[in-house]
Amino acid sequence: MIAKKLLIVSGTHGNELNPVWAVKKFRNLINRSPQSNSLEFTLGNPKALEKGLRYIDVDLNRSFNVLKTASNQNFYEVNRSEYLISEYGIQGPKSCPIVIDLHTTTSCMGTSIVMYGRRQRDFCLAAILQAKFGLPIYLHEKDVNQTGFLVEAWPCGLVIEIGPVAQNHFDSEITERFLIILSFLGDLINNLENNRINLPSEISLFVHQKSIDYPRNENNDINALIHPLRINNDWKMIEEGDPLFINIDNETLTYSGKEKIYPLFIGEAAYREKNIAMSFTKKEILKCNQSWISSLLSF
Ligand SMILES: [Zn+2]
Repeated sequence: MIAKKLLIVSGTHGNELNPVWAVKKFRNLINRSPQSNSLEFTLGNPKALEKGLRYIDVDLNRSFNVLKTASNQNFYEVNRSEYLISEYGIQGPKSCPIVIDLHTTTSCMGTSIVMYGRRQRDFCLAAILQAKFGLPIYLHEKDVNQTGFLVEAWPCGLVIEIGPVAQNHFDSEITERFLIILSFLGDLINNLENNRINLPSEISLFVHQKSIDYPRNENNDINALIHPLRINNDWKMIEEGDPLFINIDNETLTYSGKEKIYPLFIGEAAYREKNIAMSFTKKEILKCNQSWISSLLSF
């Protein structure tokens, strides 16, 4: 029996239905084909999915580094993260060294890759997907307020994020986009082992700088919305003086930084509770190293 190397997680957020449907359809399509031998599948947060909620007690995708204490030991997601690691982590009975976590966003992000930190194997996987599909990559790093992501608990892992789509809303156009990626991933390890995939010479990244909150009044209520020129314009460069928000008095609030930046996850519905209106990123080009592939295959 060939060891499965790639774990596909869907439903990490219980109100993101399209990845779950795409995986169901994909498993049906590949039933007993060679692809089914290389992939393992699991739901991230089945209880939240049943209820159509992002999570039950806490965000599962911020719970993978959480220390258990008297106050959180009964949190469903804290226990679920432990279970997923014990089952599919490198020591587990269904051990997979590589994980792909499928998400959707309400922001106008298109199909994109999110990576966490600068791990060689993640770069390798991200570079391959970028070269194949032309996907933009958001590199999330150095953010002390956002930690404990699922993929960080595995030696290698990426998030595929597709949007815009509303929470709890099925969209077959979005599910078909997931299916294209899943089909590629099903053959990935085999293609890499047989030298059928080459790394591109470089990888283009949007590197996290900071997140900004909505402007608020003295009662801490949001008192400005994302400006019409900014909403749905993820990945587009802005510079000093460009509009960010429009407040209740119809005044435009502008970006005051000196550097050119690229805002992402603009107006993401799930991030309002995290006090995030959008995240600022800077573009970076990195040379790919051919040794990344052997590193990825060394598991
Ligand atoms: Zn999500």
